[in-house]
Amino acid sequence: KPIPIIVTCRDHAQGGANEYPENLRIEVLSAAIGAGAEFVDLEYENFFSIANQEKIRRALSQNPKSRLILSAHNFEGKFPNITKLYRHILTLYSAAIPKLVYTANHINDCFEAFDLLHQSSGERIILCMGRAGLISRIIAKKLGSLVTFASLDNESATAPGQITIEQLKKTFSSDSINSETVLYGVLGSMVYNSASPAAHNACFAKAELNKLYLPLLVEGGENEFDEFMRNVRVRSWLNFAGFSVTIPHKANALNYVRQSGGVVEPLTEKIGAANTLTLDTAQITNSGPQISAYNTDYIGAMDAIISKLKIDKSDLKDLSVAVLGAGGVARAIVAGLTDAGAKVCIYNRTVEKAEKLAEEFGCDFAALSELGTLDAKLVVNCTSIGMYPEVDATPLPQEYIKKDMAIFDTVYNPFETLLLKQAKEAGAKTIDGLTMFVNQAAEQFKLFTGKETEPKLIQKTVIKQRNRN
Ligand code: NAP
Repeated sequence: KPIPIIVTCRDHAQGGANEYPENLRIEVLSAAIGAGAEFVDLEYENFFSIANQEKIRRALSQNPKSRLILSAHNFEGKFPNITKLYRHILTLYSAAIPKLVYTANHINDCFEAFDLLHQSSGERIILCMGRAGLISRIIAKKLGSLVTFASLDNESATAPGQITIEQLKKTFSSDSINSETVLYGVLGSMVYNSASPAAHNACFAKAELNKLYLPLLVEGGENEFDEFMRNVRVRSWLNFAGFSVTIPHKANALNYVRQSGGVVEPLTEKIGAANTLTLDTAQITNSGPQISAYNTDYIGAMDAIISKLKIDKSDLKDLSVAVLGAGGVARAIVAGLTDAGAKVCIYNRTVEKAEKLAEEFGCDFAALSELGTLDAKLVVNCTSIGMYPEVDATPLPQEYIKKDMAIFDTVYNPFETLLLKQAKEAGAKTIDGLTMFVNQAAEQFKLFTGKETEPKLIQKTVIKQRNRN
């Protein structure tokens, strides 16, 4: 065998697939030690029995190269006292490798595992299960866990929350992670299909930076978001240095930075939402490293408009623009467009939201149902209409699209929405959401690293990932 082996014959009560009798399972593990397995993994509770202990200890004494992992699992949630449990395992058998694995019901539950890894030394395995525990599997190596667990493919995971070996190695560069690796990530409630980890990690690898970008599933609202930020900032040893922020936390991110005395970039303040946070570990405040908030959505969108239409920012002055939608992305784009002097009319399903946004930025507004009155040279879709899986929907009926218009769809899943297809058919110019995504990610990379990256690399990575899914 080319690689070390861990043999387990898991107790059904702790997640084993079959109800094998205990004496059979102990026989299996003793035989595995006899056959030269580097590690056997036995539930620590089943090591209490003197008979079991004697058999395992005897097998180990005859094969000193084999090591015993004594494990504890909690599929419901955190252990009542994980540190006590860790010590108890070592008291039971000081040469054991303690393995403590529990379900994280929220990403904030992971910090207890991180703390124990940070405070202990030697060989130990400490991980969190479940979707919310995913990051503990990815950064296990950085924090000194002896191993992490990944599956051969999507179907063969042996515990909840495992990702595949391919994802671990390719998307999360697990071979090059070490204790010095600086962490980044995307914070949101739907981050598993986000293209950002693959894109940013490809850029970090290309620039040969010891940095890793994670999907950070922060469920809940402002309280959970604030708790996550506090957890990260009091643990400077985790080396978190920046975040992308997505639905539903863009406003929470800005509030957090304001309330904790951080720095808010002026246009981000005006937009009222932040999609990028940076932590400066060289400047430590009472709440931890200095935090700053930015919004790269507007830069990404403005650069997409300017580059695709081959115009200068000054050409946007007095241009009549219809913005469809009044959510987070609409806010950023309206701020960018009005800053450039464009004449904007905001159309939204909930007309009160359009009115409020229009008032803030000095624009006109109308209901989405009034698109028949549309008189604009540039139309920007900032609603989610047309996004996967509703790919046959469009926010703008085809008959309203004119040849002399430019149509910008911020939706980038699919890359070519029905709106863009119909705009092309009508002979209008088009700007796609992927270009905006690539621009905003490149801008974030600059904020994270102070360096430029290649937008083409981001685009290629996002397309490759989408094709794989
Ligand atoms: P948001 O704050 O939730 O706003 C969603 C907007 O869509 C609201 O104006 C909402 O209208 C409207 N809407 C949703 N479903 C609708 C429907 N069935 N009919 C009519 N209007 C509907 O979301 P967001 O953060 O602004 O994101 C909007 C879209 O932007 C996303 O779907 C995403 O595809 C795209 N986006 C692109 C990028 C990029 O880099 N290209 C980045 C982020 C987001 P109401 O106010 O009436 O609810």
